[in-house]
Amino acid sequence: MAGEKEKLIYTIREQLKSDMLLGGKWLPKGQLRAIELSASVESAPSAPSVEQRSEPVVVSPEPETQAPAYMTPQVEEIMNKKQKLKALAAEVAGCQSCSLSQSRINVVPGEGNANARLVFVGEAPGQSEDEQGRPFVGRAGKLLDNIIAAMGLTRDDIYICNILKCRPPDNRDPQKSEVESCCHFLYEQLNIIDPEVIVALGTHAAHTLLETSTPIGQLRGKMHTYHPAGLNKPIKLAATYHPAYLLRNYTPDTRAKVWDDMKKVLRELDLPVPGK
Ligand code: SF4
Repeated sequence: MAGEKEKLIYTIREQLKSDMLLGGKWLPKGQLRAIELSASVESAPSAPSVEQRSEPVVVSPEPETQAPAYMTPQVEEIMNKKQKLKALAAEVAGCQSCSLSQSRINVVPGEGNANARLVFVGEAPGQSEDEQGRPFVGRAGKLLDNIIAAMGLTRDDIYICNILKCRPPDNRDPQKSEVESCCHFLYEQLNIIDPEVIVALGTHAAHTLLETSTPIGQLRGKMHTYHPAGLNKPIKLAATYHPAYLLRNYTPDTRAKVWDDMKKVLRELDLPVPGK
């Protein structure tokens, strides 16, 4: 039991640290200290005073509905988001709504910070992703890692997922019917995480989220608005080239365009632009 509590406190502390790294929108730094203090107070054995020893010991049970001291509303919100994403991932794992369920090795629901201010959305898992069950772990994923690092961030600060959760055979483009069958998972993920900015990586992600057929070359370079179903609050969206496209067209011009898009994202999040 004590081990579980320590694990929970560790998880919360790491979550808060990454939130603060991303400029946490509502977490004051004192929050982290309060949790650490709460943890040390709860785990430290306290010797009863002389007066207390002479008194009969009355143990009053805590009401079951009372949240632990470290479970502030903000921390509770983070834990809820994690649980909801976990439940959604389990739902994805059992999904057979389209034919891709027959050829997949693993589903790739997505991963990262459940409380991220920034979410990257790609189009579909490739071979490496299918094999590992994780998004963006192949060559294009390494390039995305470099882009994220250049932004001064890590994968722990953001969330990464795709429109499709299963790999299309031979990495072909997603079909319209597959997107229609699968995109509700993405919409639910975005509703749970509720980020401030989404980066749509490539044509398919941008077209699905913005419900447009405008070429990616015309969509990139400016901020758009994604209107999540069921949520009143619109979310800013930047579209840019998919890292796989960037690998195929690794020119100074394309790289400069992607970096320009990422700088816009950082400014939108009110984060420092490295190298500025
Ligand atoms: S791609 Fe999406 S809709 Fe199709 S089987 Fe996988 S999870 Fe289900």
